[in-house]
Amino acid sequence: MIQDKLKKIYYGRQIHDNDLKKILCIRYTMTWRCNFKCASCNIWNNESLPHDDINSKDIDKFAKSVLLKDINEIILSGGEPILRDDFPDIILSLHRNFSKAKFSITLNGYNPERAHNFFKRIKDEAPDLEWDLIGISLNGPKEVHDKSRGVKGSFENAVKTAELLKEFSPCVHFSFTFLKENVDYFDWVCDFAKQKGLGVHICWTVMNDRFSTNEKDLVFQNNPDLVPVLERYSDVDQIKESGNIHKDYITYKQIIKKAYLYDSIINKRVMPCHAAKTFFHLAPNGDIFPCNFDLSEDRIMGNIKISDFDTIWKNAPKGLDQDIKSGTCMYPNGVCGDSDINRSICQVDTPVLKWYINKRKTNNRLIQK
Ligand code: SF4
Repeated sequence: MIQDKLKKIYYGRQIHDNDLKKILCIRYTMTWRCNFKCASCNIWNNESLPHDDINSKDIDKFAKSVLLKDINEIILSGGEPILRDDFPDIILSLHRNFSKAKFSITLNGYNPERAHNFFKRIKDEAPDLEWDLIGISLNGPKEVHDKSRGVKGSFENAVKTAELLKEFSPCVHFSFTFLKENVDYFDWVCDFAKQKGLGVHICWTVMNDRFSTNEKDLVFQNNPDLVPVLERYSDVDQIKESGNIHKDYITYKQIIKKAYLYDSIINKRVMPCHAAKTFFHLAPNGDIFPCNFDLSEDRIMGNIKISDFDTIWKNAPKGLDQDIKSGTCMYPNGVCGDSDINRSICQVDTPVLKWYINKRKTNNRLIQK
């Protein structure tokens, strides 16, 4: 009896949902400008995107908000971030203002020397700044990559950039975007990365008005034969089941959460999303959105050049919270991408544990279409 009570306390402590009141992460699109012509994306061709980027002074002002004091993660993307001549100034300003935050970034790798010079300057001026992840886009071997990125020579440059940037982060990855043209090359990229001492992550195919992907590019939703790729990527074969589901959940929580994410995406199941709660998206022109997938006008919460962040946050559009909770924006055309949902899943146990218990009781594979 006492043992049961102790067990309950033990599990209770390790299975819990986080307090969702603190803002922990900023997703910052540094610019919409890009010098590639990727087959999957049309940012480079989108005239309607604003091209007036905020600067480091705007960031200094915006960062004064007390609501941002807990920020511990900043995710940078584009367009191509290093097209900005003031790239180091922006990063240094973010670091000065959000000193607890670790940084992640994805680059297209077009100019290895420029990237190296920028990262070197940042390291010289802020040796304590941590790059949690540096991703360099790579979609396959030379012919496949160059074709999908629309620029000759991009393969060699991407590889050189990844190798040069190893000096600045223990975690430099090739970022592989699955498309119908390159589904057969993921394993090739994984082997290639291993030879180079680098990692690989999947950049989930997104469909919205900034991308030129279509239903056929949602390869995982359309092709159950690719489930083993997700099983390998999630390491589900490392789970050694005991008779105790709760104990297994605690032991393999990270793997189970990844499996929950992929099983839900391929089956279009609504998952938790904490956009406009624990994270938000800062667009290049200073607009604040809940996330960087649905950028419709009615989702603009405000602009940091016009209002201070506290005012913007407190006056979020009515119904936004409910809209996100109901998941109506999660699958506008297929999927909204995994990075923000992944972060949200990491903050809660309840829905994942329920899903896991059901999988175990029905004896189903964790990821299946
Ligand atoms: S569910 Fe997707 S589209 Fe909706 S707010 Fe979350 S990340 Fe954005």
